[in-house]
Amino acid sequence: MSDCIFCKIANGEIPSEFLYEDERVVAFRDLNPQAPVHVLVVPKDHHENFVDDVPAETLASMERAVAAVTRETGIAETGFRCIMNTGAAAGQTVMHLHMHVLGGAPLGEGLIPS
Ligand code: 5GP
Ligand code: ZN
Repeated sequence: MSDCIFCKIANGEIPSEFLYEDERVVAFRDLNPQAPVHVLVVPKDHHENFVDDVPAETLASMERAVAAVTRETGIAETGFRCIMNTGAAAGQTVMHLHMHVLGGAPLGEGLIPS
């Protein structure tokens, strides 16, 4: 998608520092972090969200990216939260599938951070 910011970042059109990259996904820090560690895991192919016919190989790469990034940033042991906002009511603002990985501080016990 030519006007999609995450397509441009994930495919190198906008130079970015990746914490993880393989043939299907990249991971980079969120521009507006909500926790000490706030990383986005983003497929290189454009899918609007988690239920937009995402190939199993891409989902497997996302899991590998989460494992690598949480090890690298030191939150694998302390714990972290993965969030995929889906649709406007959930607060999705970038309509290209991405998983937020948050950690590095107590995040609270509720599903919805207050
Ligand atoms: P959403 O609200 O769609 O679940 O999350 C989109 C996230 O992307 C937000 O947390 C926002 O800060 C982040 N974001 C938007 N544009 C950019 C960008 O150009 N670079 C980076 N690194 N993050 C971005
Ligand atoms: Zn896109």
